[in-house]
Amino acid sequence: MIIILSSNATDQDVDKVVTNLKGRGYGIHLSRGVEKTIIGAIGAPDEDKADIAQRIEALPFVERVVSILKPYKLVGREFHPERTVINVRGVTIGGDEIVVMAGPCCVESEEQLLTTARAARKAGARVLRGGAFKPSTSPYSFQGLGEEALKYMAAARDETGMPIITEVMDARDIDLVLKYSDILQVGARNMANFSLLKEIGLARKPVMLKRGLSSTIEEWLQAAEYIASRGNYDIILCERGIRTFETYTRNTFDINAIPAVKGLAHLPVIADTSHGTGRWHLVEPVGRAAIAAGADGLMIEVHPNPEVALKDGPQSLKIDTFERLMRGLIPIIEAVGRTPGWSA
Ligand code: PEP
Ligand code: MN
Repeated sequence: MIIILSSNATDQDVDKVVTNLKGRGYGIHLSRGVEKTIIGAIGAPDEDKADIAQRIEALPFVERVVSILKPYKLVGREFHPERTVINVRGVTIGGDEIVVMAGPCCVESEEQLLTTARAARKAGARVLRGGAFKPSTSPYSFQGLGEEALKYMAAARDETGMPIITEVMDARDIDLVLKYSDILQVGARNMANFSLLKEIGLARKPVMLKRGLSSTIEEWLQAAEYIASRGNYDIILCERGIRTFETYTRNTFDINAIPAVKGLAHLPVIADTSHGTGRWHLVEPVGRAAIAAGADGLMIEVHPNPEVALKDGPQSLKIDTFERLMRGLIPIIEAVGRTPGWSA
């Protein structure tokens, strides 16, 4: 249930309710908005709830007690009506500005990464992506350079000032990835790896949670709930396409999911139209559509020479095509009343 306090509630009032609920076995999550303080009380036995809700509602500083029927509670809009804005080294995700995360699918060499990072930054990208641990379908294909790649990414951040995002595939690598990366990425194949999600929930760095290949919106939001339930609320959702019967595209980018999750959850939403389409010439038009549908930003794979990329060459943009995409996004961003944060 969530307890909405009236605006005159004092810190002592909040403490009183929190202590009482903790004593009854509830897990407590506090959301202090500009206008309201909301206490989320989760996980106590069902039989208590109606009685406790009634008693709390009778307190003079309580406006309302609402039980949340949805299976995701902390990431839902009821608990946190204001949108979550995440600040990563001065880049705000989920605010007014549209943020583009760009970089190669895999970090292949220091030179490949730096060339891409410099060009992406110049074109207006704010976050550098790059895979160090790769979730490859085949055990024989490239698995990533591991820590070496993380070092190159940190060097590229030092030079360009762009915060970095990279995937963590295994709970045993979390500390290593945390040492270098500014945002942890949970890949589509790991969206339902609940033990990984729980461990990541203990980290105090933003996480971008990709939607599973065959996951419903509700399953995706419950995966986000796993992370939030451990106290990490800085979660970015990433729609990256789902499996359908269509084979022309690698995945079917689910445009519906963008306004749907923005309505259901308070978290920022990024659209990965590289994996969402699998074809470089579709990345730009579908990216424009995603921004028009309300996405807070894009994740785009860029490679200086996609023909020789070790992974995902067919969906990677060349540098000049990426520059064109960035210029072309500006009128769409302005049309939906947002700010590009870069100029043509
Ligand atoms: C990636 O971003 O490099 C990646 C592997 O994406 P996904 O998990 O969406 O397939
Ligand atoms: Mn990729």
